[in-house]
Amino acid sequence: MSGELRSESLEQALAGPRWKRVVLKLSGEALASSASDETIDAAIVSRLAGEIAASCAELGTEMAVVIGGGNIWRGTTGAGEGMDRATSDTMGMLGTVINALALQDAIERAGQPTRVLSAVHMAEVCEPYIRRRALRHLEKGRVVILAAGMGSPYFTTDTPAALRAAEIDADVIMKGTHSGVDGVYSADPRLDPSAARFDEIGFMEVVAQDLRVMDLTAITFCRDNQIPILVFDIMQPGNIRAALSGKQIGTLIS
Ligand code: UDP
Repeated sequence: MSGELRSESLEQALAGPRWKRVVLKLSGEALASSASDETIDAAIVSRLAGEIAASCAELGTEMAVVIGGGNIWRGTTGAGEGMDRATSDTMGMLGTVINALALQDAIERAGQPTRVLSAVHMAEVCEPYIRRRALRHLEKGRVVILAAGMGSPYFTTDTPAALRAAEIDADVIMKGTHSGVDGVYSADPRLDPSAARFDEIGFMEVVAQDLRVMDLTAITFCRDNQIPILVFDIMQPGNIRAALSGKQIGTLIS
């Protein structure tokens, strides 16, 4: 280990966790395989779960994961083909429950206790989302996995991530990206090589410049309730821990 690396990890250990309680917004597509057409890639889930388990254990961070379902179904896909939008969105919400169970299994195999709480009640499968119960689990050091978004159609899981962050008094929303874009840029860096990444940016600028990092409803909700959002590349190994321990990665919207 180089002297630089050693002093960096020592610095992180001494600094402790940057935030006490976080909401991690994990897109369903992050669980899918880019190499094959696996809807849920066991190796990817295991890698993400291992990082979540290890960083929460080491840093003592309380974490609620809001899991998406885009790898299985998106409401807009069905609606675009003529399906009833509310029905199609309900299918999307059920997809998030499948992902939540996959993530729960992997995080628990990594040695970290979890609870899945769903906004659509499924007594045989997981607990219902009850705010005070979620808080109790967090206080007990369990990773809480929030499934089925808000339980209402016409939303994506970005807005429930913001809502739950406010409800459980989280210090930040960590929005993990999976498309190779590691933060908020002045333009899409995949299309415009001159695009520059912001280390920090204000909510108003994100809205005014129409920088599509999260749904607008979620962004304005976070602005109104003063919940910062860290946009970072979750597919880069080590980034969850780096973000939790305060290393400068991604873009902080505040
Ligand atoms: N969804 C919904 N209400 C919610 C959350 C999700 O109807 O509160 C549906 C919606 O159809 C969405 C799908 O669930 O397209 C999957 O969620 P999302 O698109 O956020 O998944 P991600 O992009 O994070 O993988």
